[in-house]
Amino acid sequence: MSEKRPARQPQSGHHNLDPHLPRYAARTAGMTASEIRALFAVASRPEVVSLAGGMPNLAALPLDSLSSQMAELIANDGLVALQYGSAHGVPALREQICEVMALEDISAHPDDVVVTVGSQMGLDMVTRLFCDPGDVVIAEGPSYVGALGSFAAYQAEVVHVAMDDQGLVPEGLREALGQCRKHGKRVKFLYTIPNFHNPAGVTLAVERRAEILEICREHDVLVVEDNPYGLLGFDGQTYPALRSMDPDNVVYLGSFSKTFASGLRVGWVLAPHAVREKLVLAAESATLCPPTLNQLVVSRYLATHDWKGQIKTFGENYRERRDAILSALEQHMPPGCSWTHPDGGFYVWVTVPEGVDTKAMLPRAVTARVAYASGTGFYADGFGSRQMRLSYCYPTPERIKEGVRRLAAVLESEMDL
Ligand code: PMP
Repeated sequence: MSEKRPARQPQSGHHNLDPHLPRYAARTAGMTASEIRALFAVASRPEVVSLAGGMPNLAALPLDSLSSQMAELIANDGLVALQYGSAHGVPALREQICEVMALEDISAHPDDVVVTVGSQMGLDMVTRLFCDPGDVVIAEGPSYVGALGSFAAYQAEVVHVAMDDQGLVPEGLREALGQCRKHGKRVKFLYTIPNFHNPAGVTLAVERRAEILEICREHDVLVVEDNPYGLLGFDGQTYPALRSMDPDNVVYLGSFSKTFASGLRVGWVLAPHAVREKLVLAAESATLCPPTLNQLVVSRYLATHDWKGQIKTFGENYRERRDAILSALEQHMPPGCSWTHPDGGFYVWVTVPEGVDTKAMLPRAVTARVAYASGTGFYADGFGSRQMRLSYCYPTPERIKEGVRRLAAVLESEMDL
Protein backbone atom coordinates (compact mmCIF):
# COMPACT_ATOMS: atom_id res chain seq x y z
CA MET A 1 0.00 0.00 0.00
CA SER A 2 1.41 3.30 -1.03
CA GLU A 3 0.86 5.08 2.31
CA LYS A 4 3.09 2.49 3.96
CA ARG A 5 6.01 3.44 1.75
CA PRO A 6 8.68 5.60 3.26
CA ALA A 7 8.44 9.21 2.20
CA ARG A 8 12.19 9.32 1.81
CA GLN A 9 14.53 6.51 0.91
CA PRO A 10 16.35 4.99 3.86
CA GLN A 11 19.84 5.53 2.48
CA SER A 12 21.35 7.98 0.09
CA GLY A 13 23.43 6.44 -2.68
CA HIS A 14 22.23 3.32 -4.45
CA HIS A 15 18.65 3.39 -3.16
CA ASN A 16 17.10 3.87 -6.57
CA LEU A 17 18.40 0.45 -7.51
CA ASP A 18 17.12 -1.20 -4.34
CA PRO A 19 14.38 -3.65 -5.36
CA HIS A 20 13.24 -3.86 -1.74
CA LEU A 21 12.30 -0.22 -1.57
CA PRO A 22 8.52 -0.80 -1.58
CA ARG A 23 8.88 -3.23 1.26
CA TYR A 24 10.51 -1.07 3.88
CA ALA A 25 8.48 -0.04 6.90
CA ALA A 26 7.39 3.57 7.02
CA ARG A 27 9.66 4.17 10.00
CA THR A 28 12.75 3.63 7.85
CA ALA A 29 12.08 7.02 6.29
CA GLY A 30 13.89 8.63 9.21
CA MET A 31 16.87 6.29 8.98
CA THR A 32 19.60 8.08 7.11
CA ALA A 33 23.34 7.63 7.37
CA SER A 34 24.70 10.18 9.80
CA GLU A 35 27.09 12.68 8.30
CA ILE A 36 29.63 11.56 10.83
CA ARG A 37 29.47 7.90 9.90
CA ALA A 38 30.00 8.83 6.26
CA LEU A 39 33.09 10.75 7.28
CA PHE A 40 34.84 7.90 8.99
CA ALA A 41 36.26 6.40 5.80
CA VAL A 42 38.07 9.55 4.67
CA ALA A 43 38.98 10.67 8.14
CA SER A 44 40.76 7.43 8.90
CA ARG A 45 43.34 7.88 6.14
CA PRO A 46 46.67 8.24 7.95
CA GLU A 47 47.62 11.57 6.39
CA VAL A 48 44.38 13.15 7.65
CA VAL A 49 44.34 14.47 11.22
CA SER A 50 40.92 13.38 12.34
CA LEU A 51 39.21 15.63 14.82
CA ALA A 52 35.95 14.09 13.59
CA GLY A 53 35.28 10.83 15.43
CA GLY A 54 34.84 10.40 19.15
CA MET A 55 36.82 7.21 19.65
CA PRO A 56 38.05 6.71 23.20
CA ASN A 57 41.81 6.50 23.48
CA LEU A 58 42.42 3.08 24.99
CA ALA A 59 46.23 3.08 24.89
CA ALA A 60 46.48 3.24 28.69
CA LEU A 61 44.56 0.00 29.29
CA PRO A 62 46.52 -2.77 31.07
CA LEU A 63 46.24 -5.27 28.22
CA ASP A 64 48.49 -7.92 29.77
CA SER A 65 46.54 -8.30 32.94
CA LEU A 66 43.24 -8.09 31.06
CA SER A 67 44.31 -10.86 28.76
CA SER A 68 45.31 -13.19 31.59
CA GLN A 69 42.09 -12.34 33.39
CA MET A 70 40.05 -13.25 30.33
CA ALA A 71 41.92 -16.51 29.89
CA GLU A 72 41.27 -17.33 33.54
CA LEU A 73 37.61 -16.48 33.15
CA ILE A 74 37.19 -18.92 30.29
CA ALA A 75 39.23 -21.59 32.06
CA ASN A 76 37.36 -21.35 35.37
CA ASP A 77 33.89 -20.15 34.43
CA GLY A 78 33.75 -20.74 30.70
CA LEU A 79 30.48 -22.62 30.71
CA VAL A 80 28.76 -19.75 32.46
CA ALA A 81 30.58 -17.01 30.56
CA LEU A 82 29.73 -18.52 27.18
CA GLN A 83 26.10 -19.28 28.02
CA TYR A 84 22.92 -17.18 27.72
CA GLY A 85 22.08 -15.11 30.77
CA SER A 86 19.11 -13.08 31.91
CA ALA A 87 17.86 -10.07 29.95
CA HIS A 88 18.23 -8.05 33.12
CA GLY A 89 22.01 -8.55 33.24
CA VAL A 90 24.50 -10.36 35.50
CA PRO A 91 23.48 -9.68 39.15
CA ALA A 92 27.03 -9.11 40.45
CA LEU A 93 27.65 -6.53 37.74
CA ARG A 94 24.39 -4.75 38.50
CA GLU A 95 25.54 -4.39 42.09
CA GLN A 96 28.89 -3.00 41.00
CA ILE A 97 27.14 -0.57 38.66
CA CYS A 98 25.33 0.81 41.72
CA GLU A 99 28.74 1.45 43.32
CA VAL A 100 29.91 3.27 40.20
CA MET A 101 26.80 5.44 40.19
CA ALA A 102 27.25 6.24 43.89
CA LEU A 103 30.21 8.40 42.79
CA GLU A 104 27.61 10.79 41.39
CA ASP A 105 25.36 10.64 44.44
CA ILE A 106 22.96 8.08 43.01
CA SER A 107 21.51 5.65 45.44
CA ALA A 108 19.93 2.79 43.51
CA HIS A 109 18.82 -0.78 43.95
CA PRO A 110 20.53 -3.30 41.63
CA ASP A 111 17.08 -4.57 40.58
CA ASP A 112 16.43 -1.24 38.90
CA VAL A 113 19.56 -1.52 36.76
CA VAL A 114 19.18 -3.15 33.35
CA VAL A 115 22.42 -3.99 31.55
CA THR A 116 22.45 -3.00 27.88
CA VAL A 117 24.68 -3.39 24.84
CA GLY A 118 26.20 0.07 25.31
CA SER A 119 24.10 3.05 26.30
CA GLN A 120 23.15 3.32 22.65
CA MET A 121 20.88 0.33 23.16
CA GLY A 122 19.49 2.05 26.24
CA LEU A 123 18.60 5.04 24.10
CA ASP A 124 16.92 2.84 21.56
CA MET A 125 14.89 1.00 24.19
CA VAL A 126 13.81 4.10 26.06
CA THR A 127 12.63 5.66 22.80
CA ARG A 128 10.87 2.44 21.87
CA LEU A 129 9.11 2.37 25.23
CA PHE A 130 7.94 5.95 25.25
CA CYS A 131 7.64 7.35 21.73
CA ASP A 132 4.88 6.91 19.21
CA PRO A 133 5.32 8.53 15.81
CA GLY A 134 4.85 12.29 16.13
CA ASP A 135 5.60 12.43 19.85
CA VAL A 136 8.06 15.12 20.84
CA VAL A 137 11.45 14.65 22.46
CA ILE A 138 13.07 17.79 23.81
CA ALA A 139 16.84 17.77 23.38
CA GLU A 140 19.65 20.23 23.75
CA GLY A 141 20.69 21.95 20.55
CA PRO A 142 23.12 20.57 19.52
CA SER A 143 22.66 16.99 20.70
CA TYR A 144 24.28 13.57 20.45
CA VAL A 145 23.99 12.28 16.91
CA GLY A 146 23.30 8.67 17.95
CA ALA A 147 20.36 9.80 20.08
CA LEU A 148 18.95 11.80 17.19
CA GLY A 149 19.26 8.61 15.13
CA SER A 150 17.18 6.66 17.66
CA PHE A 151 14.54 9.37 17.85
CA ALA A 152 14.31 9.45 14.05
CA ALA A 153 14.02 5.66 13.89
CA TYR A 154 10.88 5.84 16.05
CA GLN A 155 9.58 8.86 14.16
CA ALA A 156 9.71 11.14 17.17
CA GLU A 157 9.93 14.85 16.53
CA VAL A 158 12.86 16.61 18.16
CA VAL A 159 12.50 20.11 19.57
CA HIS A 160 15.86 21.64 20.44
CA VAL A 161 16.50 23.91 23.40
CA ALA A 162 19.54 26.17 23.40
CA MET A 163 22.51 25.85 25.73
CA ASP A 164 24.95 28.45 26.96
CA ASP A 165 28.27 27.82 28.67
CA GLN A 166 26.35 26.63 31.74
CA GLY A 167 24.46 24.00 29.75
CA LEU A 168 20.75 23.78 28.99
CA VAL A 169 18.98 27.10 29.59
CA PRO A 170 15.99 26.57 31.93
CA GLU A 171 14.07 29.50 30.44
CA GLY A 172 14.46 27.98 26.98
CA LEU A 173 13.12 24.68 28.25
CA ARG A 174 10.11 26.34 29.84
CA GLU A 175 9.42 28.22 26.64
CA ALA A 176 9.73 25.10 24.44
CA LEU A 177 7.42 23.09 26.68
CA GLY A 178 4.91 25.94 26.72
CA GLN A 179 4.97 26.13 22.92
CA CYS A 180 4.50 22.38 22.57
CA ARG A 181 1.56 22.49 24.94
CA LYS A 182 0.06 25.40 23.03
CA HIS A 183 0.27 23.48 19.77
CA GLY A 184 -1.17 20.32 21.26
CA LYS A 185 2.04 18.31 20.92
CA ARG A 186 2.72 15.38 23.20
CA VAL A 187 6.12 15.76 24.79
CA LYS A 188 7.44 12.45 26.06
CA PHE A 189 10.78 13.26 27.56
CA LEU A 190 13.67 15.67 27.89
CA TYR A 191 16.84 14.02 26.61
CA THR A 192 19.84 15.66 28.23
CA ILE A 193 23.61 15.11 28.52
CA PRO A 194 24.39 17.14 31.61
CA ASN A 195 28.13 16.48 31.92
CA PHE A 196 30.86 17.27 29.38
CA HIS A 197 28.30 17.39 26.62
CA ASN A 198 28.67 15.65 23.27
CA PRO A 199 29.10 17.69 21.10
CA ALA A 200 28.96 21.01 22.98
CA GLY A 201 31.66 20.35 25.60
CA VAL A 202 29.73 22.21 28.32
CA THR A 203 28.40 21.04 31.70
CA LEU A 204 25.03 21.83 33.22
CA ALA A 205 25.54 24.17 36.18
CA VAL A 206 24.64 22.56 39.48
CA GLU A 207 22.33 25.50 40.30
CA ARG A 208 20.27 24.75 37.19
CA ARG A 209 19.72 21.08 37.88
CA ALA A 210 16.89 21.31 40.39
CA GLU A 211 15.14 23.94 38.30
CA ILE A 212 15.23 21.79 35.17
CA LEU A 213 13.85 18.83 37.08
CA GLU A 214 11.11 21.00 38.50
CA ILE A 215 10.11 22.34 35.07
CA CYS A 216 9.87 18.78 33.76
CA ARG A 217 7.75 17.80 36.75
CA GLU A 218 5.46 20.77 36.18
CA HIS A 219 4.91 19.70 32.57
CA ASP A 220 4.67 16.02 33.41
CA VAL A 221 7.66 15.19 31.24
CA LEU A 222 10.14 12.40 31.95
CA VAL A 223 13.88 13.15 32.00
CA VAL A 224 16.35 10.89 30.20
CA GLU A 225 19.82 11.62 31.55
CA ASP A 226 22.63 10.34 29.33
CA ASN A 227 25.89 10.38 31.23
CA PRO A 228 28.77 8.50 29.59
CA TYR A 229 31.40 11.16 30.42
CA GLY A 230 30.47 12.11 34.00
CA LEU A 231 33.55 10.52 35.58
CA LEU A 232 35.92 12.06 33.04
CA GLY A 233 36.22 15.50 34.59
CA PHE A 234 39.76 16.83 34.30
CA ASP A 235 40.03 17.94 37.88
CA GLY A 236 38.43 14.78 39.15
CA GLN A 237 35.28 16.73 39.96
CA THR A 238 31.93 14.99 39.68
CA TYR A 239 28.46 16.51 39.64
CA PRO A 240 25.29 15.29 41.31
CA ALA A 241 23.34 13.29 38.77
CA LEU A 242 19.84 14.49 37.90
CA ARG A 243 18.78 10.98 38.80
CA SER A 244 20.04 11.49 42.36
CA MET A 245 17.75 14.49 42.72
CA ASP A 246 14.52 13.03 41.35
CA PRO A 247 14.72 9.21 41.17
CA ASP A 248 11.08 8.70 40.17
CA ASN A 249 11.17 10.93 37.14
CA VAL A 250 14.62 10.29 35.68
CA VAL A 251 15.81 7.43 33.49
CA TYR A 252 19.59 7.34 33.70
CA LEU A 253 21.83 5.92 30.96
CA GLY A 254 25.34 4.81 31.86
CA SER A 255 28.21 3.19 29.99
CA PHE A 256 31.60 1.58 30.43
CA SER A 257 32.61 2.75 26.93
CA LYS A 258 34.56 5.76 28.12
CA THR A 259 35.61 4.61 31.56
CA PHE A 260 36.81 1.16 30.49
CA ALA A 261 36.45 -0.35 27.01
CA SER A 262 33.99 0.72 24.31
CA GLY A 263 34.37 -2.49 22.32
CA LEU A 264 32.88 -4.59 25.11
CA ARG A 265 29.60 -2.77 24.52
CA VAL A 266 28.46 -2.80 28.12
CA GLY A 267 26.20 -0.04 29.36
CA TRP A 268 23.12 0.21 31.51
CA VAL A 269 19.81 1.88 32.16
CA LEU A 270 18.76 2.81 35.67
CA ALA A 271 15.02 3.18 35.42
CA PRO A 272 12.38 4.32 37.88
CA HIS A 273 11.19 1.14 39.54
CA ALA A 274 7.84 1.19 37.75
CA VAL A 275 9.50 1.27 34.32
CA ARG A 276 12.04 -1.45 34.92
CA GLU A 277 9.90 -4.43 34.01
CA LYS A 278 8.92 -3.05 30.62
CA LEU A 279 12.54 -2.21 30.01
CA VAL A 280 13.63 -5.79 30.67
CA LEU A 281 10.95 -7.02 28.27
CA ALA A 282 12.10 -4.58 25.60
CA ALA A 283 15.71 -5.69 26.11
CA GLU A 284 14.70 -9.32 25.88
CA SER A 285 12.95 -8.83 22.58
CA ALA A 286 15.95 -6.94 21.21
CA THR A 287 18.84 -9.18 22.26
CA LEU A 288 17.57 -11.98 24.58
CA CYS A 289 20.35 -10.95 26.93
CA PRO A 290 23.47 -8.79 26.90
CA PRO A 291 26.69 -10.75 26.23
CA THR A 292 27.50 -12.76 29.36
CA LEU A 293 31.22 -12.95 28.67
CA ASN A 294 31.56 -9.19 28.31
CA GLN A 295 29.56 -8.53 31.46
CA LEU A 296 31.80 -10.90 33.40
CA VAL A 297 34.91 -9.25 31.99
CA VAL A 298 33.66 -5.88 33.24
CA SER A 299 32.63 -7.36 36.57
CA ARG A 300 36.04 -9.00 37.19
CA TYR A 301 37.81 -5.88 36.05
CA LEU A 302 35.88 -3.75 38.55
CA ALA A 303 36.54 -6.28 41.30
CA THR A 304 40.27 -6.69 40.74
CA HIS A 305 41.68 -3.60 39.03
CA ASP A 306 42.15 -0.08 40.25
CA TRP A 307 39.36 1.14 37.98
CA LYS A 308 39.20 4.56 39.60
CA GLY A 309 42.94 4.96 39.01
CA GLN A 310 42.43 3.90 35.41
CA ILE A 311 39.73 6.54 34.93
CA LYS A 312 42.12 9.09 36.38
CA THR A 313 44.80 8.03 33.89
CA PHE A 314 42.33 8.27 31.02
CA GLY A 315 41.35 11.71 32.30
CA GLU A 316 44.99 12.86 32.40
CA ASN A 317 45.45 11.80 28.77
CA TYR A 318 42.32 13.65 27.72
CA ARG A 319 43.29 16.69 29.71
CA GLU A 320 46.64 16.89 27.94
CA ARG A 321 44.80 16.74 24.62
CA ARG A 322 42.23 19.31 25.71
CA ASP A 323 45.07 21.66 26.66
CA ALA A 324 46.69 21.07 23.27
CA ILE A 325 43.53 21.85 21.32
CA LEU A 326 42.62 24.94 23.33
CA SER A 327 46.07 26.45 23.01
CA ALA A 328 46.20 25.63 19.28
CA LEU A 329 42.78 27.22 18.75
CA GLU A 330 43.90 30.30 20.64
CA GLN A 331 47.06 30.50 18.56
CA HIS A 332 45.74 29.80 15.08
CA MET A 333 42.03 30.44 14.67
CA PRO A 334 41.08 33.51 12.64
CA PRO A 335 39.16 36.36 14.28
CA GLY A 336 35.41 35.88 14.61
CA CYS A 337 35.62 32.23 15.68
CA SER A 338 34.61 31.13 19.17
CA TRP A 339 34.65 27.82 20.99
CA THR A 340 33.72 26.14 24.24
CA HIS A 341 36.19 25.30 27.02
CA PRO A 342 35.44 21.78 28.23
CA ASP A 343 36.38 20.69 31.76
CA GLY A 344 36.04 17.04 30.85
CA GLY A 345 35.00 14.68 28.07
CA PHE A 346 36.11 14.64 24.45
CA TYR A 347 34.77 17.63 22.54
CA VAL A 348 35.12 21.30 21.68
CA TRP A 349 32.27 23.02 19.86
CA VAL A 350 33.38 25.75 17.49
CA THR A 351 31.33 28.56 15.95
CA VAL A 352 32.71 30.18 12.80
CA PRO A 353 31.90 33.59 11.30
CA GLU A 354 28.82 34.23 9.24
CA GLY A 355 29.24 33.27 5.60
CA VAL A 356 31.22 30.10 6.33
CA ASP A 357 29.34 26.82 5.94
CA THR A 358 31.13 24.03 7.78
CA LYS A 359 29.48 21.28 5.77
CA ALA A 360 30.42 22.83 2.43
CA MET A 361 33.93 23.47 3.74
CA LEU A 362 34.54 19.90 4.85
CA PRO A 363 35.79 18.48 1.52
CA ARG A 364 38.31 21.33 1.33
CA ALA A 365 39.41 20.61 4.89
CA VAL A 366 39.90 16.93 4.05
CA THR A 367 41.97 17.95 1.03
CA ALA A 368 44.04 19.99 3.49
CA ARG A 369 44.31 16.80 5.59
CA VAL A 370 42.14 17.62 8.54
CA ALA A 371 38.63 16.37 9.35
CA TYR A 372 35.95 17.52 11.77
CA ALA A 373 32.26 16.86 12.24
CA SER A 374 30.12 19.62 10.76
CA GLY A 375 27.45 21.07 13.01
CA THR A 376 24.30 20.19 11.08
CA GLY A 377 24.60 16.51 12.01
CA PHE A 378 23.93 17.42 15.63
CA TYR A 379 20.58 19.04 14.99
CA ALA A 380 17.38 17.41 13.80
CA ASP A 381 16.30 20.57 12.00
CA GLY A 382 19.21 21.49 9.72
CA PHE A 383 20.61 24.16 12.05
CA GLY A 384 24.33 24.20 12.80
CA SER A 385 25.91 25.21 9.50
CA ARG A 386 28.20 27.66 11.30
CA GLN A 387 29.26 25.11 13.87
CA MET A 388 31.60 22.17 14.04
CA ARG A 389 32.66 19.61 16.60
CA LEU A 390 36.34 18.97 17.18
CA SER A 391 37.17 15.78 19.08
CA TYR A 392 40.50 15.86 20.85
CA CYS A 393 40.24 12.43 22.49
CA TYR A 394 42.18 10.28 20.07
CA PRO A 395 45.12 11.96 18.22
CA THR A 396 48.39 12.83 19.96
CA PRO A 397 48.76 16.43 21.20
CA GLU A 398 51.23 17.10 18.34
CA ARG A 399 48.77 15.86 15.73
CA ILE A 400 45.98 17.86 17.33
CA LYS A 401 48.07 21.03 17.06
CA GLU A 402 48.91 20.29 13.45
CA GLY A 403 45.24 19.54 12.72
CA VAL A 404 44.09 22.86 14.17
CA ARG A 405 46.79 24.69 12.23
CA ARG A 406 45.53 23.13 9.00
CA LEU A 407 41.92 23.82 9.90
CA ALA A 408 42.64 27.47 10.66
CA ALA A 409 44.33 27.87 7.27
CA VAL A 410 41.29 26.39 5.49
CA LEU A 411 38.98 28.68 7.45
CA GLU A 412 41.05 31.71 6.59
CA SER A 413 40.89 31.01 2.88
CA GLU A 414 37.17 30.34 3.22
CA MET A 415 36.69 33.75 4.84
CA ASP A 416 38.58 35.45 1.99
CA LEU A 417 36.11 34.10 -0.57
N1 PMP B 1 25.57 8.95 24.59
C1 PMP B 1 26.52 9.83 24.29
C2 PMP B 1 26.34 11.25 24.68
C3 PMP B 1 27.69 9.42 23.63
O1 PMP B 1 28.63 10.32 23.35
C4 PMP B 1 27.84 8.06 23.27
C5 PMP B 1 29.05 7.54 22.53
N2 PMP B 1 29.71 8.41 21.72
C6 PMP B 1 26.80 7.18 23.61
C7 PMP B 1 25.69 7.65 24.28
C8 PMP B 1 26.85 5.72 23.26
O2 PMP B 1 27.82 5.09 23.95
P1 PMP B 1 27.90 3.51 24.12
O3 PMP B 1 26.80 2.90 23.33
O4 PMP B 1 29.24 3.14 23.62
O5 PMP B 1 27.74 3.27 25.58
